[in-house]
Amino acid sequence: MLKIKELKCSIGDKEILRGINLDVKPGEVHAIMGRNGSGKSTLANVITGKETAQITNGSIIYNNEDLNEKTPEERSLRGIFLSFQYPVAIPGVNITYFLKEAVNAKRRYLGKDELDAATFLRQIKEKLKLVDLDSSFIKRAINDGFSGGEKKRNEILQLLMLEPNLAILDETDSGLDIDALNTIAHGITTAKSPERSFIIITHYPRLLNYVKPDKVHILLKGRIVKSGGPELAQILEEKGYGWV
Ligand code: ADP
Ligand code: MG
Repeated sequence: MLKIKELKCSIGDKEILRGINLDVKPGEVHAIMGRNGSGKSTLANVITGKETAQITNGSIIYNNEDLNEKTPEERSLRGIFLSFQYPVAIPGVNITYFLKEAVNAKRRYLGKDELDAATFLRQIKEKLKLVDLDSSFIKRAINDGFSGGEKKRNEILQLLMLEPNLAILDETDSGLDIDALNTIAHGITTAKSPERSFIIITHYPRLLNYVKPDKVHILLKGRIVKSGGPELAQILEEKGYGWV
């Protein structure tokens, strides 16, 4: 589904990613771990098309298409999703209208009928329950005055509504209390399917106990320096990153 080859990118004259190789097959869950500043968010950003970082080498191939030429919207329509590490508030933009527009844009792209208001409302109310958000949230503006936990639940709500093929979660579990973490884990588990792949960026093995990764990669200074199975996350928990 996703094939990243020798990817290098820079922000200004600083090289941030220094030769990334990654191969994600349909249905696989990959975890990316690593110290702050190692380039995890930058990797998520270049896959989704944020233009802060310039690609200087290599390629990102998604379902046999080179993503380099595609805008973030085109990537989203093709099924790529990013849960932001720092979700942005958009006061005045209601989450229900926003999501309905996004979901229907995708349905139009896929040649499906748009959802009418009643059907959409029924669906969003079901998903709100899954992420343990009160149904009054349908009236709120995007992330406006949301607590940290509510922002991350809202990211998972978007994941559940948009039904992507490739979901990238950038520290969606950071700063959550145990209940919120369980909810997030439950949301991800619900979304798992043989066709849907996940790249989970995290510092904590806890989430990976709930959502078992097929592969764990350690990113250090812009390179994947070690890849392994779920046991790698446990070793990091015990030993930290020093030994890497
Ligand atoms: P991580 O997500 O692993 O903590 P990031 O990808 O956010 O790491 O950052 C990697 C490096 O890129 C850091 O040194 C960071 O300061 C730098 N960086 C990220 N965004 C910018 C930016 N907009 N301008 C300048 N440097 C940036
Ligand atoms: Mg980050």
